[in-house]
Amino acid sequence: MAVMTTPSCPCGRPEPYAKCCGRFHAGAAAPTAEALMRSRYSAFVKGDAGYLLRTWHPRTRPARLDLDPGMRWTGLEISGTADGSAFHATGTVTFRASYRGGSLHERSRFERVDGAWVYVDGEFLD
Ligand SMILES: [Zn+2]
Repeated sequence: MAVMTTPSCPCGRPEPYAKCCGRFHAGAAAPTAEALMRSRYSAFVKGDAGYLLRTWHPRTRPARLDLDPGMRWTGLEISGTADGSAFHATGTVTFRASYRGGSLHERSRFERVDGAWVYVDGEFLD
């Protein structure tokens, strides 16, 4: 019988949080759009609004962000990526983020600003 193990990082990767999204929350630059997207999901899980604002494109960033403390995120599945590597200036990541009571299916757009990946906006799917 298989033993279910809980991923160590909220983004679903097996690495411990400190070696995965935690590095980016602590100030390291995310190398790809997907890594940034994962770290933003983990920031939602951890309620880190400062990180979310910091990694939001200045053009589309809200003036403030109030996270719902009652929101319980339960998982992230990345279903597709386009561009978004060290060799690109833009990229998209398609994902489903689940929370207690529902899920969010979105294609997010990312850009690099001064070399750092930032979130621009997203399109809801379904
Ligand atoms: Zn992670």
